[in-house]
Amino acid sequence: MTTSPAAEPAIAIRDLTKRYAGEKGKPGKLALDGVSFDVPQGQIFGLLGPNGAGKSTLINILAGLVTKTGGSAEIWGFDIDRNPRNAKRMIGIVPQEIVFDPFFTPFEVLENQGGFYGIGKRDRRSEELLAAVHLADKRDAYARTLSGGMKRRLLIAKAMVHSPPILVLDEPTAGVDVELRRQLWELVTDLNRQGVTVVLTTHYLEEAEQLCDRIAIINRGKLIANKPTRELVGMAREKIVRVTLDKDLAGPPMEEGFVKAEALDPRTLEITYDRDKASAGQVLARIQSHGYAIEDVTTREPDLEDVFVQLTAAP
Ligand code: ADP
Repeated sequence: MTTSPAAEPAIAIRDLTKRYAGEKGKPGKLALDGVSFDVPQGQIFGLLGPNGAGKSTLINILAGLVTKTGGSAEIWGFDIDRNPRNAKRMIGIVPQEIVFDPFFTPFEVLENQGGFYGIGKRDRRSEELLAAVHLADKRDAYARTLSGGMKRRLLIAKAMVHSPPILVLDEPTAGVDVELRRQLWELVTDLNRQGVTVVLTTHYLEEAEQLCDRIAIINRGKLIANKPTRELVGMAREKIVRVTLDKDLAGPPMEEGFVKAEALDPRTLEITYDRDKASAGQVLARIQSHGYAIEDVTTREPDLEDVFVQLTAAP
């Protein structure tokens, strides 16, 4: 694998802008609006954002599939404009859509991809890659006979044929069942342990929270957060406390400092409060001041989803 000084980012994006062409020469959608960030080497980096935020556009620019309208991007030190061939060699992209010629076998798919990258027959790693994605026993099966999960694993092997130091996965687990998702993440984590820098887009926030060292969030084409995962989750302003009352609620009491008060059933109240404006003790005292006794209390720590909602909420 190629190495470079640790201080060098794996990917450096500066002021990246994309405006799609509109109809009849009119300016179209501004999908990326001056986005800048670095992906540090050796990390699992999550690129998150609501639908239409610009994630695929950004990845497609890195893959050389979409032409940017402004800014720059370097992949492992290679500028995508000045050094497109080298830039492409440094990155393996696992696309969202599964596309294979159904009549090739997994072995052939990898051999063809090796040929595409000009890798000599002897230097190809097709067998090794099939083993790595647990498809050695499917070496000679037609791609069309593989299950959805096997196809996704084959796509990962295909993206790794030229041994890129960076692997990018665009929504790898969309529509995938829990067991397969777990397998895919194990595979990604293994590759990362072997030194591969991983960038992934996902809308499963729980997964992003567990897997990613660092997370960037884009919203409407703009970067709105870029932090180590733990710090990002720590930004949650809102906390949640759930109380069981001694008698049925007359109506959810709203108080200053409560962001939301929701009756889950007649005796269970869930209060979301702003931790800068109230404490759990104050929340409970305010409920008691309405004449209720509290029989039980649980609190829920905010997670990435809470932060995501907070950051991406329309102004
Ligand atoms: P995400 O991957 O975050 O869902 P996309 O990058 O796919 O977002 O899309 C960002 C915006 O650009 C959306 O408003 C989308 O409709 C628009 N867009 C994406 N691809 C094209 C295209 N080929 N032509 C015109 N507009 C596009």
